[in-house]
Formats: sequence, C-alpha cells, structure tokens
Amino acid sequence: MADDIVNSAIASRQLPLLQRHLAYLQQFSPYYRRLFQQCGFTSAGLRSLADLQQLPVTDKNDLSRFNRDFLAVGEEKVVDICQTSGTTGDAVTVWQTEADLQRLAKNEQLAFTAAGIKATDRVLIGAALDRVFMAGLAYFLGLRKIGATAIRAGSGQPTLVAELIRQQRPNVLVGVPSLLLMVANQLQQRGEPPQTSGVEKIICIGEPVRNEDLSLSPLGLALSETWEAQVLGTYASTEMATAFADCSSGCGGHLLPDLMIVEILDDAGEPVAVGDAGEVVVTPLGIEGTPLLRYRTGDIARIHTDPCECGRETPRLGPILGRRAQMLKCRGTTLFPAAVNGVLQQITGVQGYYLEVHSEFDLSDRLRVVVGCDGDLSVTMVAEQIAAKTRVKPEVVLVSSAAIREKTLQPEMRKPVTFFDYRDKDSLV
Ligand SMILES: [Zn+2]
Repeated sequence: MADDIVNSAIASRQLPLLQRHLAYLQQFSPYYRRLFQQCGFTSAGLRSLADLQQLPVTDKNDLSRFNRDFLAVGEEKVVDICQTSGTTGDAVTVWQTEADLQRLAKNEQLAFTAAGIKATDRVLIGAALDRVFMAGLAYFLGLRKIGATAIRAGSGQPTLVAELIRQQRPNVLVGVPSLLLMVANQLQQRGEPPQTSGVEKIICIGEPVRNEDLSLSPLGLALSETWEAQVLGTYASTEMATAFADCSSGCGGHLLPDLMIVEILDDAGEPVAVGDAGEVVVTPLGIEGTPLLRYRTGDIARIHTDPCECGRETPRLGPILGRRAQMLKCRGTTLFPAAVNGVLQQITGVQGYYLEVHSEFDLSDRLRVVVGCDGDLSVTMVAEQIAAKTRVKPEVVLVSSAAIREKTLQPEMRKPVTFFDYRDKDSLV
C-alpha cells in the first residue's frame, strides 16, 4: 500500500512533465512527428502514464539510421556535441543546448548529493572531459553546482591519476573499477599503500559493482578492500543523459523521477511484474536538443521499490545483469555471462576463462565454459559451483592459462573478450 501511494505521488508529478515532453516532440522532433503521424497519435491523447505503453519504442538502430531527424532545435541553439558508438559503426551524435547542459548539471548534482558528496569534498574525476564524451563533462558540471573541488584527471593515464592522488589528496574518486584497481596497484608499488591515500569514497561508473541481491560484487569488494573506502555505483548513458546513483546506503541507483521515466519490459515489449528483471527503457524528460521517447537501452535490470535506508522513496535500479543481446536461455532458465563470470572469479585456481554459447535444437542455448588452469582443478567442482549460483550446469573444459590469454586478449579491444556467441542470430528476437 505504501508503495502504491509513493508510486502515485511520483506518477502525478511525472504526468504533466511527460505531456509537455510529448507536445515538444510533436512540434520539434522530425523523427517523432513522423512516428506520431504514422501511428495516429497526438500528444494531447495521453491521459495517464500507462498510455505511454501504446507508443512505439526507439532503439539504438533507429537513432543511428535517422540520427539527424532526432535533432529538435536549430543548429544555432546547440552548444555541445556528444558522440556515442552506433550500431553500424558510424558514431551517433547527441546534440545539447544550454538548457540541456543545465539539466545535465542538475542531474549530476542530485546524483552526487545522493551519494553523499558535499561542498567540502575533493573529487578526482577519472573520466574523460574531452573526446566528445558526456560523462566527464556531466561530473564536472555536477560538482561545480555542489561547490566541491574537481580534480580532472581523465581516464587515459593511470600514472597521472596516481600522481594526482598523491599531490592533490582527493577524498572521493569517480571512475571505472578497472582503472581504479590499476591506480591502486601503482601506488602500492611505489610504497604508498592506497589505504593511506585519504580516499574515503569511490563512485564507480561503467561496470556494476553489486550482485543481484545488492551486496557488493567480487569487483566491488576488491575495490573496497584495496582502498579501504566506501564503494558506490552509478549507471547512466549518453542517450539518457540521466543517472541512477547509489545513495550512501548503497542499495541500488535511485531514479530521478523529475528527469526520467523508466519502464522495465519483457521480450515481447510488455511491462514485467514489479521487481522482475527486464530491459531498461527510458524516457528522459525536459531535453531540448536530442529528445527521446521510450529508448531501449539494451541493458537488463530490475527495479526495487522497498523503502531505502536513506529515507528517499524513489524506486531504485539494481545492477545491470547483462546486455539483452547476451541473454542465455538454457533449458528454461535465463542467465547472463556476468553471473557465470562472478562465480569463476571466486574459485581459487582459475587463471582466466571465457564462455562460448551455441544454439541447441530445442530453442535452448548450450553454454560451454573454458577455464584456464596450469595446476589442478576439478571440472565437476567448477560446473557444480556454477550450477549452485545460476541453476545452469554448463559443460566445463580446462585449458592452459596461455590458451585463455591467446583467445581473450585481442589487440584491437580495450578489455579482454570473454564471451563468444556462436548462436544463430536469425533465430533471436
Ligand atoms: Zn537510498
């Protein structure tokens, strides 16, 4: 009942914002004006938030194919251009106006404030402000609004990040977990243990640091132990220009209801039951330059609506369980590569791994787990550990750690590739 009251309070705030958003799309967005005409919709026809479900979704392919038709202002109003990778190889442009930058600043101010950041904090930004990225810019604008001190280290050079931590003594770090582990390693090697660096809080971007039950994942725990700092997560993307940020209770990313409407949809595009996992579909509100409607992120997660310790009543997004395209269906059970990776990372003796998935005759997928080990390891034990956590018992094969490195380290990729999909793509939804 309490949930219903909170939800209806949020819905009554969101409805006029959505109505305004739809009227804006109809008037200014060439892409959506055309789409509305095709499906006979007028913005005045939306009477409740549930009516949103009658409208078509937009995916990355649409944004890539008709990119320029998403620009909803004259070029003279654009003050910043962001790019994100497209589906066909061409980058997708996201145009921002002055009002969009103000909105981005507000978004990040709210997200960082929820994470407990105050004007007295010194925050190292381990994300790029250049290269037409949005994230680093958003963090800088948000910190400026809070009045905290920003230290713009960027993401490219761990040595520089380590040096800036030594010289400028930030008490908060923002960055991708792998970079922050590398930086900790560098400090350690210089005889300056990261635990003594003065870092109290780490805000992670790019990779989830929580398990499905919202406890810290092995990656999150590794960071928290290495730095002896509180580890919080945040999830956002260039297209949504809005963040889901862990509050300082660390129980999932709070939704900012005035800035975005979130739906969780199943394979057929229908809403899932509250609390079930599905694709995160977002409608960012109040965007001028590149407004979107029901944008499919391709990411799978679930919404938590139980009260949060922090007292905020907004729904929270749990960790991203995987990409929709990577979802495996093994004999009636759904799972994601990340869940199997999480198990493998905790087994002593595993020296690297990769997963292969093949189609099986009964519309089910067949998972093969290739594990690197130069010593003794029982394939039965590995398969049973995976089955205990995921309810799927895969075929497990042992190879040398060198064979794993050869397969997973690809010169053109930034991170090791540990998932190989050999399914017949035509049969996928
Ligand atoms: Zn909270």
